[in-house]
Amino acid sequence: MKAGQTGKDKDASVTIGEPMANHTSVRIGGRAEIFARPVNADALSRLLECASGIPVFFVGGGTNLLITDEDIKALVISTVDMRGIELRETQGNGAALSVSAGEPLRKVLAFCMNNGLSGLEPLAGIPGTIGGAVAGNAGAHGLQIGDLVSRALIADSAGKVKTVVKEDMGFKYRRSSVSGLILQVDLALEKGKKPEEIKELMQRNFEMKKKTQPLAARSAGCVFKNPEGQKNSAGRLIDAAGLKGRRVGDIEVSGMHANFFINTGKGSAADFLELMDKVRDEVKKRSGVVLEPEIRVISNVNN
Ligand SMILES: Cc1cc2nc3c(=O)[nH]c(=O)nc-3n(C[C@H](O)[C@H](O)[C@H](O)COP(=O)(O)OP(=O)(O)OC[C@H]3O[C@@H](n4cnc5c(N)ncnc54)[C@H](O)[C@@H]3O)c2cc1C
Repeated sequence: MKAGQTGKDKDASVTIGEPMANHTSVRIGGRAEIFARPVNADALSRLLECASGIPVFFVGGGTNLLITDEDIKALVISTVDMRGIELRETQGNGAALSVSAGEPLRKVLAFCMNNGLSGLEPLAGIPGTIGGAVAGNAGAHGLQIGDLVSRALIADSAGKVKTVVKEDMGFKYRRSSVSGLILQVDLALEKGKKPEEIKELMQRNFEMKKKTQPLAARSAGCVFKNPEGQKNSAGRLIDAAGLKGRRVGDIEVSGMHANFFINTGKGSAADFLELMDKVRDEVKKRSGVVLEPEIRVISNVNN
């Protein structure tokens, strides 16, 4: 491997000083000292061997991430070139789908629709990769992706690969206990529905999402988790505190959905974090609820 290699026939492309703003949906982030896109587990293992002692971060679609404005003194590994979807085995009405980490969730849904596999329809419209979705137990309309995971292949920090079953993945609301890089995920789905029925369900869920969330804007999805045991969602609490439209620099609380912060121009991670603090303080003052971040914040301090 050489720095700057980007050819599709290579095991990995490696770039020095890659701007992470190009790899996050909110378009924020300093440069990664080393940025690598391995295409398979073998390439990943070799990268991790070379990186022994260096901090390592994993990035999928970058749709739930806020990355510091400073340069990141780490090896950032992106999964976006780890691709592949395979319908492995089918018994009765069940179907097992094996998906590589970097496969976009939208492509997995399209595969399911074309092959008459149901289960994932509620997740229509969630951006990012399958690996990121499983790591954060992404969900919508009452389904969390962990509900459908049967097992996963995971590489530890030394690049050693093992199979982990669902029961050991610690799925909770927008969290899993997985440490290491998810390489491949097995999903337990159902056969039997017609592609048109599946398509209709996906479209209905997507339309609902489009009406309530600023999907086309530069955001990192929901900033805060919905507080447990509260009847109000984080978005409603922020709205009730009169914070829609509140800004720090170019970062603004969305007028469409108050739990989305939009980068309206040249917003920075510092502005984003300051707005998070202001919103958290104001919501606590108004409702007594302390909001917890849903987005993952990556900074050198966290290493
Ligand atoms: C417009 C919009 C709408 C959204 N709607 C929803 C929604 O309805 N429901 C919902 O749950 N989320 C939603 N999100 C948030 C986000 O899309 C999901 O959380 C998504 O599943 C994250 O996947 P990703 O590949 O982008 O992960 P990233 O943002 O790249 O990473 C998120 C975290 O997962 C880790 N990670 C990524 N890949 C791997 C891997 N292979 N192995 C181990 N760890 C990994 C990263 O290190 C990081 O900690 C939305 C985001 C946007 C921008």
